[in-house]
Amino acid sequence: MSIVVYLETSDVAVRSASLPALTAARALAQHRGGPIVGVVIGSGLDAAAKDAARYVDKVLAYDAPELRAPLAETYAPVLVAALKAAGADALVASATSTGKDVLPRTAALLGAGMASDISSVEGAAKFKRPTYAGNAVTTVEVTSPTVIVSARQTAFEAAAPLATVGGVELQPAGTVDARGAAFVALHASKSERPDLTEASIVVSGGRGMKSGENFKVLEELTDLLGGALGASRAAADAGMVPNDLQVGQTGKVVAPKLYIAVAISGAIQHLAGMKGSKTIVAINKDAEAPIFQVADYGLVGDWEKVVPAMIEEVKKLKA
Ligand SMILES: Cc1cc2nc3c(=O)[nH]c(=O)nc-3n(C[C@H](O)[C@H](O)[C@H](O)COP(=O)(O)OP(=O)(O)OC[C@H]3O[C@@H](n4cnc5c(N)ncnc54)[C@H](O)[C@@H]3O)c2cc1C
Repeated sequence: MSIVVYLETSDVAVRSASLPALTAARALAQHRGGPIVGVVIGSGLDAAAKDAARYVDKVLAYDAPELRAPLAETYAPVLVAALKAAGADALVASATSTGKDVLPRTAALLGAGMASDISSVEGAAKFKRPTYAGNAVTTVEVTSPTVIVSARQTAFEAAAPLATVGGVELQPAGTVDARGAAFVALHASKSERPDLTEASIVVSGGRGMKSGENFKVLEELTDLLGGALGASRAAADAGMVPNDLQVGQTGKVVAPKLYIAVAISGAIQHLAGMKGSKTIVAINKDAEAPIFQVADYGLVGDWEKVVPAMIEEVKKLKA
């Protein structure tokens, strides 16, 4: 049997958020065997489907105007049809907001078991996943014949293209029924900075920044480093920054090469979203702050002095 991997797309390419799902699917194929079939869904998919074909032997493209927006109501039946068309008994996607929305409904339609937000593949139907805000790791096994898996983006490397380009098969979308749901609008926040979940450097500020105005100095450091800006929930809840910058258990999970936590205490719920970062730098005036327990480099000091000094040093290095 084959493995289907659902690949999210922009107008022209596979979204980088889906590349970790391919890596997870390749790991699963080591245990289950079978080819990996990519599935793309949307409207006007020509370029994106061609891009997807660089990563898999075969791409099934479901292209229809009614599939323009990723609604779970319309995408889940398409994924069910894709599994049938591909002769697959496993479906993998990244645990993005779309993946988290569409996969459980697909699993329900198939009567299949689902392993959510997995961090590793341990067998043909056995996976590890973080629980209790990342404080425990659970091994789960899906016992239904069909296995549905959402993969935590930060736990799997982005897949590289294959040496040969696969083929694209246009599939009939069938009757698209949104079951009373309708896509109204997408209000995406626009930023010149890289996406928080994809940036290789993240600079985050906490409640100790005291005001939104004070985040300007973190923005300056972020932009000098070419990174993304993040925040603790306390800072977001206090209105210092928009909520979509929140890192943590109930925010975004990030694993950049460098994570700089400024005036963040290091509550477990915050750590759950960033402790997979390769190098963690913490700046806090309290030497006892728990963030120092996970930091590779810790600086006990007042951000008002430390961050401007860092900015000057980075400017000198870049000059
Ligand atoms: C169910 C649940 C889910 C949650 N989800 C999340 C989540 O997703 N993300 C998240 O972040 N939190 C989350 N929280 C909240 C979490 O428990 C903490 O309350 C929060 O992370 C604290 O944010 P903070 O570190 O910015 O603030 P604080 O804990 O108040 O820490 C502020 C830090 O700033 C330091 N500081 C103050 N002034 C300065 C200065 N001038 N220079 C240097 N350092 C200074 C202080 O020493 C202190 O360590 C969640 C909580 C619950 C219950």
